Amino acid sequence: MSLIVQKYGGTSVGTIERIEAVAEKIVGFRERGDDVVVVVSAMSGETNRLIGLAGEINDEPSPREMDVLVSTGEQVTIALLSMALQKRGYDARSYTGSQVRILTDSSHSKARIQEIDAHRMEHDLSKGRVVVVAGFQGSDENGNITTLGRGGSDTTAVALAAALTADECQIYTDVDGVYTTDPRVVEGARRLDQITFEEMLEMASQGSKVLQIRAVEFAGKYKVPLRVLSSFEEGSGTLITLEEDDDMEKPIVSGIAFNRDEAKLTIRGIPDVPGIASRVLGAVGRANIEVDVIVQNVAQDNTASLTFTVHRNEMTKAQDVLESVAKELGATTVEADANIAKVALVGVGMRSHAGVAATMFEALAKDNINIQMISTSEIKITVVIDERYLELAVRGLHSAFELADADTEEK
Ligand code: ADP
Ligand code: ASP
Ligand code: MG
Repeated sequence: MSLIVQKYGGTSVGTIERIEAVAEKIVGFRERGDDVVVVVSAMSGETNRLIGLAGEINDEPSPREMDVLVSTGEQVTIALLSMALQKRGYDARSYTGSQVRILTDSSHSKARIQEIDAHRMEHDLSKGRVVVVAGFQGSDENGNITTLGRGGSDTTAVALAAALTADECQIYTDVDGVYTTDPRVVEGARRLDQITFEEMLEMASQGSKVLQIRAVEFAGKYKVPLRVLSSFEEGSGTLITLEEDDDMEKPIVSGIAFNRDEAKLTIRGIPDVPGIASRVLGAVGRANIEVDVIVQNVAQDNTASLTFTVHRNEMTKAQDVLESVAKELGATTVEADANIAKVALVGVGMRSHAGVAATMFEALAKDNINIQMISTSEIKITVVIDERYLELAVRGLHSAFELADADTEEK
């Protein structure tokens, strides 16, 4: 008998039929004698719909009210799933984040979990109940509702698993595991039986939305056994492991992540003197804008230019900051480009192998794709390219690093 925390994402609870199917799945685990705590997302599309409603009233709604609004999606699914379990003769109790007492800080829309009170859940489990908890939400010390960022139900599940010292945290979604790259973009993408936390963290941070990055961080920190599986079909999914696979045949590159969420800004003609990067990026930081990839260049006339990426939603705000810094520093131009994409190769095998970057650049060159920026870490290489070529780049790299199943013809 095990204690399992299971999370079902938006598509998995997207219709009444799907909710009934999830209830059947949970019943299967209860029949085998397992204790189950379930975390659910809102029905697919619901969170976006709610955000849209707010936008019809106010361009900049208050973060507090936004969290009150968007947290309602999950309140619907916990109640419906509990009803479906009760109909099947199982005692189930639903709880919102604040009822469980998932205590977070007060950063609305990106709150961090600080503490979880496991008593109520443990009491229910001891009475043989299935505990159903709303994902993505908590409340701060003053009882204000908070949310954990898009995709945050993954983090709720991992945090509950840590608080309850569950035997496993299972993330049920609409794909049957973590793939070498998004299977919706590369048909020949291959499911991985396992991937290390380190790699999964890079994959998530570079844009693979199959797991929220905070969930992976949390699972690594508290050593929560984490698995990604399909709610639509049987299978063992992908295990996120602490240890590297000893397999000699292990690939150098484990996966390719990508995203279209960023924009690129450039300030040209700034003095090439110590402290200049801090003057520019300091101003951006003070405006609370997070910067990702950064490149600085010196031109022949000895002036410098600084290029960096930010979240696309913050491009205009960053551009305004740069315009005012440009005036102070006597810069010549400020440019902004939203049509970029980021592609990253991830793999712990890169540590012990040279030449990965060369192969990557060669593959991109073969497809005539220009590299605008490059950034590396020990286990990843990221490039920024024109958004138009994103899918071409991902497919080309997937095939250059032979990531597909041996028997899958890549297109
Ligand atoms: P849920 O609603 O269940 O949380 P998400 O849409 O957040 O589901 O995450 C699942 C999706 O992640 C898949 O449908 C897939 O398109 C996408 N995805 C991106 N990268 C990967 C990857 N490397 N492996 C598997 N899925 C991926
Ligand atoms: N419903 C939230 C979202 O769409 C949280 C989640 O699904 O994990 O982002
Ligand atoms: Mg998700």
